[in-house]
Amino acid sequence: MINRTLRQADSEMARILAGELERQKTTLMLIPSENYASRAVMAAAGTIFTNKYAEGYPRRRYYHGCEYYDQLEQLAIDRAKELFGAEHINVQLHTGSQANMAAYWAMLEPGDKLLAMSVAQGGHLTHGDKINFSGVAYEGHFYGLDPDTDQLNYEMIAEQARQVRPKLMIAGASAYPRIIDFKRMKEIADEVGAYLLADIAHIVGLVAAEAHPDPVPYCDVVTSTTHKTLRGPRGAMIMCKEEWGDKIDRAVFPGIQAGPLMQIIAAKAVAFKEAQEFGFREYQRQIIRNCQALAASLLEEGFTLVTGGTDNHLLLVDLRNKGVTGKLAADLMEMAGMVVNKNLIPGDPLPSTETSGIRPGTPGLTTRGMKEPQMHQIGKAIARVVHDGHDGEGNPNEAVLAEVRAEVRELCAMFPIYEDLEA
Ligand code: PLP
Repeated sequence: MINRTLRQADSEMARILAGELERQKTTLMLIPSENYASRAVMAAAGTIFTNKYAEGYPRRRYYHGCEYYDQLEQLAIDRAKELFGAEHINVQLHTGSQANMAAYWAMLEPGDKLLAMSVAQGGHLTHGDKINFSGVAYEGHFYGLDPDTDQLNYEMIAEQARQVRPKLMIAGASAYPRIIDFKRMKEIADEVGAYLLADIAHIVGLVAAEAHPDPVPYCDVVTSTTHKTLRGPRGAMIMCKEEWGDKIDRAVFPGIQAGPLMQIIAAKAVAFKEAQEFGFREYQRQIIRNCQALAASLLEEGFTLVTGGTDNHLLLVDLRNKGVTGKLAADLMEMAGMVVNKNLIPGDPLPSTETSGIRPGTPGLTTRGMKEPQMHQIGKAIARVVHDGHDGEGNPNEAVLAEVRAEVRELCAMFPIYEDLEA
């Protein structure tokens, strides 16, 4: 947080922070894996809890002086259990990638087979991709989407599982706009004798609010981040059945981490409390309504959406009929104050550095209090940028982008964020 202390101690960093605060206040956050943490979450993350080593778990620490750290971690665990109904929860994971690393460490031997959604079709790098530790330490096999529907086809996944016979099946994605049927994935895993892990990093807030089917009853292990739709601090957690509890805890510490970030665990506890409040359920439902409204607006403007729409917090826009790459669209949108990811679309002919798609999402916009009319306006603004924001040769049309930028600023001012933070 920007305050006098930081300005006095490190003016250079204070200047950078002031710039970022201004950016967050005056641009639209369309990246579906980002959100605006509450003041209370940020306050907890900036506390003296940062000063202490607390290796181990509550009442089983390797460091002395952990009385309050036991209390805060137990509070986080208890709140998360209440929220998700999981039997065992580890809240020490620094990131979603480390949550997956620890889960595999607990469940697999090096060289074991895992079967997951490919990155090219919407999965995550840590699900066995060759350029990631998970594809080096384990044998990654991948299912994709049904080419006719661009949706998961559980018959095709079952057939592949019968052939591969993986030790672990993973359900979960980074860029999939539809519901995932965890119950069906469990049936497939059971049929081939595989463990089932759900990675709900993206949809965790929807799951907490019962706005997406719950994986917890069906999975051996569920991994998640805490910063995306859940709107907590940047971090992660693992939920599992009691029988996996000891193995998961040992995989996290001493397996892949040492000192937990206790200030972040405190912030996770605050976020879990916020997620138990009534407004959070409504917030998650509004994220979906907003995403569907944005989809409708883009469809009206002639955009092609992968799967034709969305059931969750994100959209995958196929830009091939618009004559722009995902990279160009995202670059132009950023100039106009709308920050979005470029993203591969299923069967993308372009590399991941260019892509044929973008992946807009609505968690951040919804946190600002925006509703369907604003989604409609934003859809039109995106269309204006993609249609008229360039000269057809990749060069920006500065005048159009400046007009949209002004409109975005106005919209941001009407739905302010961090109003009381000083710049
Ligand atoms: N799993 C999924 C499905 C994700 O989308 C992501 C992040 O984008 C991760 C794991 C990794 O999370 P982190 O960036 O915290 O390592």
